[in-house]
Amino acid sequence: MARKRNTDLPEEGDETLPPKRKIGELRRLGRFLNPYSFYVVGALLALTVAAGTVLTIGQGVRRLVDDGFAAGNIELLNQSLVALLVIVVVLAGATYARFFFVSWLGERVVADIRKAVFEHTLRLDPTFYETMRVGEVMSRLTADTTLIQSVVGTSASMALRNVLLVIGGLVMLAVTSPKLTLLVLLVVPLVLVPILFFGRRVRSLSRESQDRLADVGSYLDESIANIRTVQAFNHEAVDRSRFSGRVENTFQTSIRRIRARAALTAIVILLVFGAIGVILWMGGREVISGGISAGDLSAFIFYAIVVATSVGALSEVIGSLQHAAGAVERLFELLDMQPNIAAPANPKSLPDAIDGRVTIENVTFRYPSRPDHPALQDFELAVAPGETVALVGPSGAGKTTVFQLLLRFYDPDTGRLTLDGVDLRELDPNDLRAHIGLVAQEPVVFSADAWENIRYGRPDASDDDVRAAAEAASAADFLDALPEGFATFLGEKGVRLSGGQRQRIAIARAILRDPKVLILDEATSALDAESERAVQTALTGLMQNRTTLVIAHRLATVMAADRIVVLEDGRIVAEGTHDELVTQGGLYARLAELQFELSQAGAAAQ
Ligand code: ADP
Repeated sequence: MARKRNTDLPEEGDETLPPKRKIGELRRLGRFLNPYSFYVVGALLALTVAAGTVLTIGQGVRRLVDDGFAAGNIELLNQSLVALLVIVVVLAGATYARFFFVSWLGERVVADIRKAVFEHTLRLDPTFYETMRVGEVMSRLTADTTLIQSVVGTSASMALRNVLLVIGGLVMLAVTSPKLTLLVLLVVPLVLVPILFFGRRVRSLSRESQDRLADVGSYLDESIANIRTVQAFNHEAVDRSRFSGRVENTFQTSIRRIRARAALTAIVILLVFGAIGVILWMGGREVISGGISAGDLSAFIFYAIVVATSVGALSEVIGSLQHAAGAVERLFELLDMQPNIAAPANPKSLPDAIDGRVTIENVTFRYPSRPDHPALQDFELAVAPGETVALVGPSGAGKTTVFQLLLRFYDPDTGRLTLDGVDLRELDPNDLRAHIGLVAQEPVVFSADAWENIRYGRPDASDDDVRAAAEAASAADFLDALPEGFATFLGEKGVRLSGGQRQRIAIARAILRDPKVLILDEATSALDAESERAVQTALTGLMQNRTTLVIAHRLATVMAADRIVVLEDGRIVAEGTHDELVTQGGLYARLAELQFELSQAGAAAQ
């Protein structure tokens, strides 16, 4: 399997790359079909029996005409009808089995693929999400898998069934009348060439229309997710026209695809039925001249119709097979991506009770998407167990980057980070992250109730633990005051809560998790004085007995920190307590004056 590195990720804008030939891509689905070989064999058996019975009907027709009608034999007519009935019953049974097995496989395979792709995307690191839009991933998970379902569940079996019918039909044609069959064979290339030509065109247009659809989806996502910004900037008109542009693009692409497909179908019908007309005419002359019997001609026409409709059906499914091949390729592209951050072959393990000593040793780090710009340079920091270090510095100084490295979303280019003396790269990321609690600047509240939102910190926590955490985070009072208390649905992304309340939920979550190391990105938004106090109390409780790194935006926080580290352009430019740093003057003194005093004034003014 080809390993893809992140540099191979599609960039925005180049998803329209013309697809390569890849019907063979469908073979890769084998991995998902293998576990269900019973169903695969059942489906193949049912398919073969069904195709066989269809072909047998032709023989029945021949005997009926020749021995029944032509010979005036009532007895034989009766027998033939009974035989026909038996055949039809077998056909019905086989069709039932085929439909069941094949549809079952389609549903099962798609369910497995969806799970595999989702599980895989959960493991991918942030570098992936910087280059791949969320809408794109979602479209692969939903639209592409649906396509695959239609292929496994329908198209593939249709294709197989029709191939069997074409081959079997042609053999029976040759047996019945070689002369007429030659005529049919002359017609086949006439039918196939346009099918292949248009089939290819339909396929490339299909991929293009999927890509356009993904554009629509991602634009929609972004606007709706940021609806407040859209409205605040009166950006609706621009968004409306851009969105409508994308929708129209999608429409135009689809129309081109539909046109090609319609032409494909029409051409097939014209050619196939035109050819049958000619054959009928020739066959009629043969019967009149005594070359073949009336029964032979009837059977021949029957087989010709079988072959013609099968070829027609094949041309229909070729389009969707090719379509789905594109979907398979894109899904496997995703499945083949290897996360940059993974556990080593033999990860070291940390004891359950760690000290929480964190060191960053001579670290230089550049984001993969900005390789020429060091986000951190010669960074040296040791945080003792239980110590609180406040990171301050202008925006872009590298504070968040320190957190990203600590959580091991990225590895440093040089130097190392350690937890209790163990290099983070020697740990399983899950083990590492189990010891770290994160309170993000924009607290994430999921669309669920408060129980579930706080329990996110430790899924097996009891209700009592959750409540205790909420109390410690000064969140219990306002949660109890909600209509259904803790069981109240907090709304999509927590829209029913104020900023300060959302922060306290995030703090409760971290308290419940009870990590030894806490990383805290203080919210910049000014809160009303009461909320501010509540959040501050919650934070103080949270930081006790933990190693804490905090990106500080509030004076109270820097004052309470054991040590303040001042960052600028990815380097540490000063360290000390608030008073020491203010006395020194320099960047911190300026920042303190601007940022902290202002935020205090802002909070007081609310
Ligand atoms: P701070 O948190 O102090 O505002 P950051 O750590 O976010 O600063 O950023 C440090 C530098 O790294 C900045 O120059 C920023 O533009 C850059 N940067 C941050 N995140 C990324 C990213 N995902 N890809 C590329 N560059 C980034």
